[in-house]
Amino acid sequence: MNTDNIEIVLVHTSSPGNIGGAARAMKNMGLSRLTLVAPREFPAPEATWRAASASDVLNSARIVDSVDEAIADSQFVVGTSARGRRIPWPVLDPRRCAERLAVSSRTERVAILFGREDRGLTNEELQRCNLHCHIPSHEDYSSLNLAMAVQIVAYELRMWGLAERLPEAADEDWDVPFVTTEEMTRFYRHLEETLTDIGFLDPAAPRQLMPRLARLFNRVRIDDMEMGILRGILTEAQKSAGKH
Ligand code: SAH
Repeated sequence: MNTDNIEIVLVHTSSPGNIGGAARAMKNMGLSRLTLVAPREFPAPEATWRAASASDVLNSARIVDSVDEAIADSQFVVGTSARGRRIPWPVLDPRRCAERLAVSSRTERVAILFGREDRGLTNEELQRCNLHCHIPSHEDYSSLNLAMAVQIVAYELRMWGLAERLPEAADEDWDVPFVTTEEMTRFYRHLEETLTDIGFLDPAAPRQLMPRLARLFNRVRIDDMEMGILRGILTEAQKSAGKH
């Protein structure tokens, strides 16, 4: 496991106390890379107070305007969620999820997204993720406090960090780097454009086509070379349709 490759991303957090609490939870468990997407109030005395001796994590937090910007460089993205969504996505509990991340963080940059206190992550944000992580809370009240959710996920990562050894990564020795989220975003844009050009996608009635395709592609790892091939196919398809 390489904790330098693990980024905790708090999306549109409204309470500065939760930001501080999350920073403390991270430092207690040996994580240090925190990104805040448009926090409502930060820096704030309450964040500093709740972080206690983790002010270094707070002070080095990266602050960005959008989720896109936060995960542009990431190669594997996990979205945490208190409840199921319309389109089911691959989902793991924190223990299995941490195992997956502990293994892949050796070679890849991973990001874990945490949502807004009042409504979590949007469907669109969750559709950007390779994997969802759900803490199996009681169905009568499934949503945990944000900082406590960070604590649980960070703890499970810590346990894998302390483990004698980790399972072999299936793609550890892959010869070509995996694409970043930014490249996937560009690919989806190109795919949507091409599907429209060839008449497969009706922009007036897109239905769930793009989310379903995102789920498909997020289940496999695409490397730089494969992305070149896919983009080449799209460009040729556009030319054949006389649209490029
Ligand atoms: N009312 C929101 C819950 C927001 S809780 C909703 O229904 O989606 C704030 C954040 O804490 C969530 O976005 C998620 O990142 C995390 N969280 C809370 N409970 C969780 C759970 N049971 N499993 C995984 N993450 C959880």
